[in-house]
Amino acid sequence: MPELPEVEITARRLDARLRDAEVESAMSPGMVALKSVDPPLAALAGRQIAGVCRVGKMPIVEFEASSDSDERIAMLVHLMSAGRLQVFDKRASLRDRTARVLVRLADGRELRLREFGTKQRAWAKLVPAGAVEADEMVATLGPEAWPAPPPEELARRTAQPRHLHPMLRDQRVIAGIGRSWVDEVLWEAALSPFRQGSDLEDEEVERLHGAMHVLGDAIDHYEEVIGDVVPDKLPMPLKVHRREGEPCPRCGATLAAVHFAEHVTTYCPDEQTGGRVLKDRRLSRLLK
Ligand SMILES: [Zn+2]
Repeated sequence: MPELPEVEITARRLDARLRDAEVESAMSPGMVALKSVDPPLAALAGRQIAGVCRVGKMPIVEFEASSDSDERIAMLVHLMSAGRLQVFDKRASLRDRTARVLVRLADGRELRLREFGTKQRAWAKLVPAGAVEADEMVATLGPEAWPAPPPEELARRTAQPRHLHPMLRDQRVIAGIGRSWVDEVLWEAALSPFRQGSDLEDEEVERLHGAMHVLGDAIDHYEEVIGDVVPDKLPMPLKVHRREGEPCPRCGATLAAVHFAEHVTTYCPDEQTGGRVLKDRRLSRLLK
């Protein structure tokens, strides 16, 4: 799933390619992909794209006011696990099963929300640009993970009796981190994924705060290696995530992992869990 660094580079590249492009028409072949009715998709016709930005893990495409309405419109997109927002030189075939929302441009190109796999979970919604911040998906977000909020704010937000791994992925606590980058942040901070947020010492919160730079480093990496077009699969500069069994790049210990139903967390036992290899929850459930 695209997280803060991946969505940021996607938004930057789309912004560079789409700014000022004029919309010819828009449609939503994914029956459930459009989550709003007002303003309608038809309201985008004739508008210019004002720019593309990001909030948390969500790209936002903004459209200029039109001759009919002096209000800008924003398209808020949630990519979920398998969605991609991409621009193509040609229009999608009507049989393209990955197409969810299509914004056809007057110059022949097409901005396309696609989704791989059979599930339809990615979505988009149109809102008046001035209403983005009040939208429930945006209003409930915690501060952006990068640049990191001040340590005092991070301390306040993480002071909860919850494990760090799920808590840092909770967008209401801090926005932008998902299943891949949480492993990298915790490894960088040398903190156990199963540490309780409310147990953190000040010095540990400082470490967590300092570790958020891995998100900024990833954006810098993408700026270097990604051209005009963001590929379907980004070359993510991950050091520990899904590298179970490989040596820790910092201390050489063998990286361990705990598997959950839908995700896996990878960590360095020597540096993050005091030498303990944590029980695999998948196995322990079976053995119960
Ligand atoms: Zn290590």
